[in-house]
Amino acid sequence: MGFAARGKRWLRPLARAGVLRAASVLATPGAAILMYHSVMDRPEQHGASFGGIIHSTTVFRGQMELLARHYHPVALDDLVEILEGRRSLPRRAVLVTFDDGYADNYEIAAPVLNRLGIPAAFYVVVNSITSGQPPWPIRVRHALLSTGKPIWTDAADRRWPLATEAERLDAFAAACAQCGRLAGQSQQEAVVAIETQLDSAPYASRERLMMSWEQLQGLRKQGHVVGSHSLSHPNLAQLGAGEAEQELLTSKQKLEQQLSQPVWHFSYPNPVLDPHWTRETASLSQRAGYRTAVTSRRGLVRQKENPLGLPRILPTKQVDGLRWNLECAFAGYIRS
Ligand SMILES: [Zn+2]
Repeated sequence: MGFAARGKRWLRPLARAGVLRAASVLATPGAAILMYHSVMDRPEQHGASFGGIIHSTTVFRGQMELLARHYHPVALDDLVEILEGRRSLPRRAVLVTFDDGYADNYEIAAPVLNRLGIPAAFYVVVNSITSGQPPWPIRVRHALLSTGKPIWTDAADRRWPLATEAERLDAFAAACAQCGRLAGQSQQEAVVAIETQLDSAPYASRERLMMSWEQLQGLRKQGHVVGSHSLSHPNLAQLGAGEAEQELLTSKQKLEQQLSQPVWHFSYPNPVLDPHWTRETASLSQRAGYRTAVTSRRGLVRQKENPLGLPRILPTKQVDGLRWNLECAFAGYIRS
């Protein structure tokens, strides 16, 4: 091991976190909204199709214990009051959120959260809850990474070789650019066309992948917030206003019918295409009746933040990594 590597070893994240913690006393206060997706005992089981969105149960538990011990977990409703100026912002405030609506959110993550008294917000893709099928990026990723076909031809007749994993991931990025601009029926047809061309059955698993309506009701009863992550997971900023409005409004209405409670919170899907929200999508969200909307923009929520364009922080896949990211954020540096 060379000198450089040895030198770096003692600049370990936790040691530096202490310095940052001191700096955070001087920084402008803000709240960190953490963005999670899936928590599994054995992430490798679904890793190829889910990509990097799975946390192992062990790491997630460690991260939640870290939050309970060293930070100030807040509920989304508290954050609304803070943004409206009706409540002061506690130091080192953290809100835990989940996107998409995977069944493990209820089965694995919620018991950890409940044991530690951490309130969370779960934003679900409503069509996926109804059908039980995961959102389209999982299906498309599965098709492109598992197919035996050597080439995929996209909708613009461009041919994508699939010999190596890197080539398959390039093809996946191109497919995301195509499918992310579509919603509803036309998106469904595009996904089925990809699966058919690649001889790939829709991604399925022996266990249920998405939460049921009963599980969402259960989360509500446990004190968590259930919000919308759209109907079909398109990039709202790339849709026409009519389609974007329908994704916002119909997903809200369906959730409200099933949960018998108003739904006020939204998460903008599909940040693969940039931008994934604009001033226009924020005003459509407001018109649809949402009070807050989270984005995949990196940053801390400040007291005067636009509630319909809230930034989030990536939790990383290690406990120390999360602590480092939070300390950087609270000290005024964002690292994702
Ligand atoms: Zn999503």
